[in-house]
Amino acid sequence: MNRPLAEAAAEAATCTRCRLAQGRTQVVFGAGAPDADLMFIGEGPGFHEDKQGVPFVGAAGQLLDRMIGEIGLTREQVYINNIVMCRPPGNRDPQPDEIESCTPWLIERISSIQPRVVVTLGNFATRFVLDTQTGITRLRGQLHDWHGRIVIPTFHPAAILHGGGERSRQFELLRQDFLLVGSTLDGMSREPSPTDEPAPQPREASSPEPRVEVPDIDQLELF
Ligand code: URA
Repeated sequence: MNRPLAEAAAEAATCTRCRLAQGRTQVVFGAGAPDADLMFIGEGPGFHEDKQGVPFVGAAGQLLDRMIGEIGLTREQVYINNIVMCRPPGNRDPQPDEIESCTPWLIERISSIQPRVVVTLGNFATRFVLDTQTGITRLRGQLHDWHGRIVIPTFHPAAILHGGGERSRQFELLRQDFLLVGSTLDGMSREPSPTDEPAPQPREASSPEPRVEVPDIDQLELF
């Protein structure tokens, strides 16, 4: 039996399990519906998130909100969180021991919310969740099976903003990926009829290259 998310958030607010606690303004636990069907996982809080205690509230967050809107949802109807809850100094990548300390919190959120579809934003979150070194360009836009859920990797909105912006091919692909997220959720929420096309099936993530040295999310049997 899971405890309420608010209780976990209250405990997380004073977490000192890793060195990121020293530099943070506040813990960014996660935000959204506690029973969301759709969860987004980013990398870690940035400057604005650290100040406000809410994930994805800066420029990347505005683009994320817009994409969520394009599939007919609001940020209040989904759940948004990150691999690590505290801002890494200078927005560097989280280090393996920091991720290891934070993984039980992420697993508790997933286990409590039970999202049916998880969208990993960018290389970092995708590689960690799918336990692969394969890059986002190859993994994005496909359904991956993960603990009985569907993972759909896509580009990190910040990568779009720092890359070609709205005119870029990546932005077009981001939009396509969100349409796939929308149609996957729609397909799950209605009964199949005999005339339906077969539903798209998730495939196993391939990991042809050696694994990154991060804690193995599969070892934490909390799902
Ligand atoms: N980038 C992330 O990965 N997460 C946030 O919360 C904000 C920016």
